[in-house]
Amino acid sequence: MTNTRTQRVAVIGAGVIGICTALQLQQAGFAVTLYDENGLAQGCSKGNAGHFATEQVFPLAQVALLKKLPAMLFNPLGPLRIDWRYAIKALPWFWQFIKNMPTARFIAHTHALKALNEHAIHAYERLLANYQLGHLLTKQGSLLTFEKTPLVDVQRTLAMYQAQGIKVKLLDAKQVHALEPSLSDKINHALLFEDVAHSIEPHLFCIQLAQKFSLLKGQFRQQKVVAITPKSEGFMVSDEQDSLNFDKVVIAAGAWSASLIEPLGYTAPLDTERGYHCMVNINHGLTRPVASAERSLIMTPMSQGLRVAGTVEFAGINRKANNKRALALLPHAQALLASQPLSATTTWMGCRPSLPDSLPIIGQAPNHNNLYFAFGHQHLGLTQGAITAELITDLCLNKAPSINLEPYSINRFMR
Ligand SMILES: Cc1cc2nc3c(=O)[nH]c(=O)nc-3n(C[C@H](O)[C@H](O)[C@H](O)COP(=O)(O)OP(=O)(O)OC[C@H]3O[C@@H](n4cnc5c(N)ncnc54)[C@H](O)[C@@H]3O)c2cc1C
Repeated sequence: MTNTRTQRVAVIGAGVIGICTALQLQQAGFAVTLYDENGLAQGCSKGNAGHFATEQVFPLAQVALLKKLPAMLFNPLGPLRIDWRYAIKALPWFWQFIKNMPTARFIAHTHALKALNEHAIHAYERLLANYQLGHLLTKQGSLLTFEKTPLVDVQRTLAMYQAQGIKVKLLDAKQVHALEPSLSDKINHALLFEDVAHSIEPHLFCIQLAQKFSLLKGQFRQQKVVAITPKSEGFMVSDEQDSLNFDKVVIAAGAWSASLIEPLGYTAPLDTERGYHCMVNINHGLTRPVASAERSLIMTPMSQGLRVAGTVEFAGINRKANNKRALALLPHAQALLASQPLSATTTWMGCRPSLPDSLPIIGQAPNHNNLYFAFGHQHLGLTQGAITAELITDLCLNKAPSINLEPYSINRFMR
C-alpha cells in the first residue's frame, strides 16, 4: 500500500490557488506536480489589486445591486459591462445570480465568506513563516473612501461591517488626509480596515512561493492538461506530451476549471468576471490600498507604481481584452488623488473565476475519491489562497478540515 509520505498529487493550475495548494501539500509530505500551460501565475493571479481583502464578506449577489444596475449597464466604460455577443450565453449565470440575492441566501453566503476570510491572513502567515517570507504581506490596513455619499449612509455601511465583527473605524476628511495626505480633499469620509494586508507585487508574490516549491523538489510541468482519467487507484493525468499517474488530483484551474471537471461528470455554472488594471508609474505616496465606494475601483501602491484596478466585464474567457476599460479607470484615480496628471504605463485584463453565489468551490469531488476542487474564488482568490490550500491539504490527509466545507461543495449545483 502506498505510504502517505510518498503519495503523488497533481495540482492543475499555477495561479495563486494552485501555487499555495502545491506548497502546502508539499509541506505535508506529498510529492507534488504542478501543471500550468502558460507558466507560473500568468492568469488572473498575475495582475490583481494585491489586496488581502478579508473585510469583503458580502456576496456580490445582493438586492442592493439591482438599483444600481441600469446606470451601470448604460455606461460602456463603467464598472459593469455585458458584451451583447455574450449576453445569451451568460443568461443562466445571471438568473442564478439573481436567485442568490434574497436575504436568507445573502446571510448564509456572508457567513460562508466570513468563515474563509477570518482565517485567510493567519493561514498566509503560517505558510509564509515556513520560508521566512512573512515580509511579503504588508500590513497597513486599507481604506474605503466616500466623496458624496451622505454620512448616514456611510454609517449604515460601517454598521454592516461591525455587525460581522470586522475591525473598522469611521474617519472624517481630516483623519483621512492625516493618514493619506496624497488623497483629494473631495473625500469626505472613509472606513479604515485595520486587519487587512496587501502585496506590493502580487505576481512576484506567486513566483516567490513557486520558487520555494521548486527548491524543495516540487515538479512544475508547463503543459496543458487535456484529460484526467480515473484508474482503479488514483488518476492518470494527460498533457499534450505525456501521461502520468497520481494518487490524488486537485483542480485549481481558475476560470478554466469547468472544462476539466465536465468529462468527469461534474457541472458548475462557472463564468468569468473579467477585470482590468492600469498601472501608473509612481505610487503618489499612498501607503495602503484605497478603494472608492462610489467609483468601484481600488488603488494599491506597488513596487512598480500605483495599480488602479476594478471593473467587471462579462465577455467570456476567450475574447480579447478591451484596454479602453483599463484606461477608463485613470480619470477616477486622478479625481481621488491630489496630484499632477497621472499617466498609464501598462494595462492588463484578468479572468476572475466566478460562481453566481459568490462562493468558491472547495472540497472533495462527490463521486471520486482523491479528486479535489479548488476554484471559483471570484474577487477574493488572492485573499483566500492560503486558507484554501490548508483546507485541501486537510482533505488530502483525511483530516477533518478546520472549517465546515458544506457551503463550498459542488453539490450545491448538482442537486
Ligand atoms: C482586476 C482584478 C483585481 C483583483 N484584485 C484582487 C484583490 O485585490 N484581492 C483578491 O483577493 N483577489 C483579487 N482578484 C481576484 C483574484 O485575482 C482571483 O480570484 C485569483 O487570481 C484566482 O486565482 P486562481 O489560481 O483560481 O486562477 P488563475 O490565477 O487564473 O490561475 C488558473 C491557472 O490555471 C491554468 N490552467 C487552466 N486550464 C489549464 C489546463 N487545462 N492545464 C494546465 N493549466 C491550466 C491557467 O493557465 C491559469 O494560470 C482580482 C481580480 C482582478 C481581475
